[in-house]
This record gives sequence, C-alpha cells and structure tokens, in this order.
Amino acid sequence: MNDNTKKSCCSETKWVFIQDACHARGCEFTYGKCTNCNRDLIHMFHTMANNDGYYEIVKPEFVTKMQALEGNELKQFMKKWYDEIN
Ligand SMILES: [Zn+2]
Repeated sequence: MNDNTKKSCCSETKWVFIQDACHARGCEFTYGKCTNCNRDLIHMFHTMANNDGYYEIVKPEFVTKMQALEGNELKQFMKKWYDEIN
C-alpha cells in the first residue's frame, strides 16, 4: 500500500485524460497518455488515500481490450489487472 512513489515512464509525468476506466478495490482507474513520451497510462487513485494517486504503464493491447469492454466486464478486467500488479 506504500508503493505510491513508483514512477511510470517520465520522471515528471504529464498526462492527458482519455477516458474513465471504471473502478475496483476502492481504486478509481483512468486511462490517459503521457504527453512527454506518448505512452499509455492508467492512473490509479485510491479514494481513501491522501495523495494524487499513481500511474502504471500499459501496453497498447491492454488498451484495445479495455476499450472493447464496458460495465461489469470492464470492472472485472480492471480488477484482475489491478490484482496482478499489486
Ligand atoms: Zn512519459
């Protein structure tokens, strides 16, 4: 839970919002791109946490899958992904 200092791609990530990617495990997921290097990122924000959340780099294949899902399927997909990286 104290892994909030981890960086994604650039030391100072500037990102642009693309779309909401549901929420699971008390965590809000948002899909966006780094404006420095153009990588796909998921921003994770714990609603109970006192910080701005953190980023995780994702592959284009991940984004393609994610965007094909909605509702509960998207939620399950994000939950599985979240559990794998934590
Ligand atoms: Zn970057």
